[in-house]
Amino acid sequence: MAYTDLEGLVLDWAGTAVDHGSLAPVGVFVEVFRREGVDVTLEEARGPMGVHKRDHIAIVSKLPRVRQVWIDAHGSPPGEADIDRMYAGAIEAQIACLPDYATPIPGVIDAVAAFRRDGLKIGGTTGYIRVMLDALAPHAAANGYAPDVAFTADEVPAARPAPYLCWKVFETLGGTAAKRWVKAGDTPVDIEAGLNAGFWTIGIAGTGNGVGMTAEALAALPEAEREALLARSRAALTAAGAHYVVDSVATMEPVLRTLDARLRRGERP
Ligand SMILES: [Mg+2]
Repeated sequence: MAYTDLEGLVLDWAGTAVDHGSLAPVGVFVEVFRREGVDVTLEEARGPMGVHKRDHIAIVSKLPRVRQVWIDAHGSPPGEADIDRMYAGAIEAQIACLPDYATPIPGVIDAVAAFRRDGLKIGGTTGYIRVMLDALAPHAAANGYAPDVAFTADEVPAARPAPYLCWKVFETLGGTAAKRWVKAGDTPVDIEAGLNAGFWTIGIAGTGNGVGMTAEALAALPEAEREALLARSRAALTAAGAHYVVDSVATMEPVLRTLDARLRRGERP
């Protein structure tokens, strides 16, 4: 059944559409700090996920523990030149590994096909920069996932949580009103960006950064442990202001139907 009021959906890439667990970016951040003699934990490396990758490195370098380890190793705090050097290394390392993380999240291909069949336009946005997405998107397309259009953190005046990536998709795909659009993503800054754009927002709790595991690893956990991780991830997205939180794009359709009905009743984000 065609949507009457909703026009489009903006999906994040890693952890939302492809790369279950958002594992490609986090490994790179750990690696660029390791090359500087500074060990960071996966949790530290994941913290600001979703922002521009240079900003991400800068934020991790300013964590009090990381900053202290850096001072112990280098004799002075990390500066802009250090961030630039790590960022250059991160681009190279990210491009090298991205083809290995281009597998669509289970159920996403069928879900997106159904959204399109019922009239929705599909945009992609990401904290990756263009050269990174160019290393990822052709492999994702070969694997069955290709949004109508996709934009990257370096193609707008400011990346997430600013609204420009959402608006660039909206403009390119001919949106008529922000309230007819939905932003879905696995990180709090995905949600903030969608809210700043005036879109409805859906947090994706189970397949991305909030849980940080492959589908297989997550399924293999004892149920109580899995549920605790999911609950923490859902809570973080709710706290960011998400209108709805689901575990996967694959299970998102009922929320889109609800939003379509709310729009028909005259409601707005
Ligand atoms: Mg993501």
